[in-house]
Amino acid sequence: RALPDDAPRPEPLDVLRTVFGYESFRGEQAEVIQTLVDGDDALVLMPTGAGKSLCYQVPALVRPGTGVVVSPLIALMQDQVDALSAAGVRAGFLNSTQAPHERREVERALLAGELDLLYLAPERLRVPDTLALLGRARLALFAIDEAHCVSQWGHDFRPDYLQLTVLHERWPDVPRIALTATATAATREEIAERLELTDARHFVASFDRPNIQYRITDKASPRQQLVDFLRAEHDGDAGIVYCLSRASVEQTAEHLSAHGIPALPYHAGLDAQVRARNQARFLREEGLVMVATIAFGMGIDKPDVRFVAHLDLPKSVEGYYQETGRAGRDGLPATAWLTYGLQDVVQQRRMIESSEGDAAHRRRLGTHLDAMLALCETASCRRVQLLAYFGQASQPCGNCDTCLAPPETWDGTVAAQKLLSTIVRVERHGQDAGRGPRRFGAGHLVDILRGKATPRVSDLGHDALTTFGVGEDLSEAQWRGVVRQLLAQGLLGVDGDGYGTLVLTPASAEVLTGGRKVPLRRERERPVRTSARGSR
Ligand code: ADP
Ligand code: ZN
Repeated sequence: RALPDDAPRPEPLDVLRTVFGYESFRGEQAEVIQTLVDGDDALVLMPTGAGKSLCYQVPALVRPGTGVVVSPLIALMQDQVDALSAAGVRAGFLNSTQAPHERREVERALLAGELDLLYLAPERLRVPDTLALLGRARLALFAIDEAHCVSQWGHDFRPDYLQLTVLHERWPDVPRIALTATATAATREEIAERLELTDARHFVASFDRPNIQYRITDKASPRQQLVDFLRAEHDGDAGIVYCLSRASVEQTAEHLSAHGIPALPYHAGLDAQVRARNQARFLREEGLVMVATIAFGMGIDKPDVRFVAHLDLPKSVEGYYQETGRAGRDGLPATAWLTYGLQDVVQQRRMIESSEGDAAHRRRLGTHLDAMLALCETASCRRVQLLAYFGQASQPCGNCDTCLAPPETWDGTVAAQKLLSTIVRVERHGQDAGRGPRRFGAGHLVDILRGKATPRVSDLGHDALTTFGVGEDLSEAQWRGVVRQLLAQGLLGVDGDGYGTLVLTPASAEVLTGGRKVPLRRERERPVRTSARGSR
């Protein structure tokens, strides 16, 4: 299909139909494509699965020359190129996984004008040879995929993305399109600024997924809670269960299978063949549950995923949104179900405190976790909060757990003061006893508050503290809820010592001196079922 330059260019809609086999454009695809065809720049924010790829693939076929796609997802390039080739599009890629002769063939095709699309890893553009190569080719456009990688505040910042302004400097007349599925309003501004997309038209799709019911429930015995949830509401449905660790993936898949729920494991530690087989079965068969680490799901397009369950707390709202977004692509009702507890917060704070990288990096991780925790602890509509995170205002959805059963709040100021002063006292007690600043985790502190003279409490003389037994009015579960919520609100911290030691934060002092009130969500004694839609 190598057209001479002066040949009439095909119409975008014809390309969509004849090359990709689709009837019509979705959402704002047509406007985005026309912007590029006209030679202008675009910044596109669309959720995963909305159809961002066509936004640059179609104009690359309409305009003369090759469309250059910068993507950090090296592992997906081969698949993308294969899929395009199957549709008759001439595509190639250049990345570090290639043998020299493969690379040379792609370079030859580019210079011969035989490529419609060329996928490049961002680090390729640091190599002067690559720029020189592009300089000898005819270019239709630049597409910068996963553009949020340019954001230093984002969860997957790539320094190489900062260099991408070179494209604009060397090829001022080649239109550029930046695309992302994960951007807050602030990130959007940052992308526009750092990529120097000053005159770009912004296309911001709605991130709302009205058919997804969001639910976040207290973690007690997660695997059993999951079985109960699936039996009650998703009998025979296909869905995805996300776990943090490979071991947890294996155990959960076994647990479900043992309870008569057909489930398959998926994680990076499995043999590639097993992984491919499980994925193929999940896509092909009905009613299978995929238990997976977050390694699973990228590029998966299964419309009838009826639920996405998280057994562990996601590290960021972006991650949570992307993972839950794999549910209900067909527009029918689906559930996003998450169970989380004190241990999740302690574990993640600890991981952040002891993580490699500089203070700014840890602060970034902390900010992401805080936003996720705020979503978990909110007393108002989950969907409103989720959309607000992406910079979109909305009305209470009437469908999420907090809309259906608004949580009560109570004044937890005194409880917080009891807990925080217990921390102060055990520390001081240790110093007085010449034991140095020994500090303790939630379990021990709750024992002291509840007046439980465990051997450890007695041995350390903690039954003599003035706060011993002052918290008998709350159950152990309620105290754990207080600890979790204080951690979520930043009124309590976790030490980087690796033991989950609870420490005061600068904000704790305001509570101790009575200068700050602490509203808390009332813990539910039993997880409530909020959906009557079980018998789908
Ligand atoms: P994103 O990159 O936004 O996550 P993709 O570009 O991978 O989304 O598209 C998701 C799916 O939707 C793909 O299977 C794609 O072929 C399909 N798709 C995109 N646009 C259309 C359209 N206009 N009509 C039908 N299917 C489409
Ligand atoms: Zn709601």
